[in-house]
Amino acid sequence: MRVILANPRGFCAGVNMAIDALDKSIEQFGTPLYVYHEIVHNKYVVERFKKQGVTFVNELAEVPNGGTLLYSAHGVSPALRTEARERQLRTIDATCPLVTKVHLEAIKFSKEGYHILLIGHAEHDEVIGTMGEAPQHMTLVETVEDVDRLPFSSTDKLAFLTQTTLSVDDANIIIAALKERYPQLIGPNKDDICYATQNRQEAVKELAGDVDLVLVLGSQNSSNSQRLAELAVLMNKPAHLIDSVSDLDPNWLKHVSTVLVTAGASAPEEVVLELVQYLERCYSATVEPRTIREEHVRFPLPKELRLVMA
Ligand code: SF4
Repeated sequence: MRVILANPRGFCAGVNMAIDALDKSIEQFGTPLYVYHEIVHNKYVVERFKKQGVTFVNELAEVPNGGTLLYSAHGVSPALRTEARERQLRTIDATCPLVTKVHLEAIKFSKEGYHILLIGHAEHDEVIGTMGEAPQHMTLVETVEDVDRLPFSSTDKLAFLTQTTLSVDDANIIIAALKERYPQLIGPNKDDICYATQNRQEAVKELAGDVDLVLVLGSQNSSNSQRLAELAVLMNKPAHLIDSVSDLDPNWLKHVSTVLVTAGASAPEEVVLELVQYLERCYSATVEPRTIREEHVRFPLPKELRLVMA
C-alpha cells in the first residue's frame, strides 16, 4: 500500500491560536475555566481540555458570575458579549481573526444600508455569531436553490459575505447565481473562505486523482473537514471522515493500493500519525508526503492574555 500524505493538512493558524489561548488561560487563571461551545470542532481536542478541568458550556447561565470564559475560534454574537459583560464574566476572545474580519465586513455593510446575504450553513457557530452582528439586515443563503427564493428586487442594496469554511466550488456557484439575479450585488474582493480551507481543498483536488481511497481525519461537526470528504466523493473517490484510526473499517481497505490521508483544520497531527503508523504496521504501507503549498500564517494570542502575561 502507498499512503500519500497531503500537505497542508490539519491545524490552521486560527486553531493553533485558540488552543494556545486555552492552554495559556489554564496556566494563568487555573480552573474552573469555561469555554462557550467547543474551542474548536474536534472531539480529541475538546476531550483533552475536559480532562484538564475545562467546562464547555452552551449557555452563559452555566458560568458563575465573575467566572472566566473563553470565546471559541468560531466567534460569538455581540448579544452574547453584552450578556457576558452584564454577568461580569472575565472574557478571553479566541475568535480567529479571519472570522472577525467577516464580522467587521457585516458591520460595515449594514451601516452603509446594505442587506447582507450570508452564504453559509445554518446552526454553525460561526454563522450564528456573524448573523448576530446585524440580525435585521442579514439573510442566510445555504444553497443555490435558496437564491431563487430570495424576496429582494433588482433595486435593493445587497451585499454578500461567506462563512470561512465552505466548499470553494459551492460558494462560487452560489455567488454566481446571486450576481446573475442581482447584478447590483457587492461583496468583499473575493469570498471570505479562509486560506486554510482553500489550501486543504486544493490539496485534495490535486492529489485525490491518483488514489483509490481518501481518508480525512476530523470530527463530524467540523465544516471544513466535511468539505474535504465531500470534495473527494465529487471526484468519484470513496472517502471517509474519521475522528481517529479506531473508526477505520478494514473493509474500506480491501483492493486498495493507494490512500490519500489528509486532515481538517481542527484535527490534531497525533491522530494523523496514529493512522499512518497503523497503515505502515498492518498494510506495509510506504508513506509519501506531498506538499502543494507552504503555510506560514501565525496569529497572536488574544489581547486579554497578552496583557496579563506582559
Ligand atoms: Fe480561522 Fe480558517 Fe482556521 Fe477557521 S479554518 S479557525 S477561519 S484559519
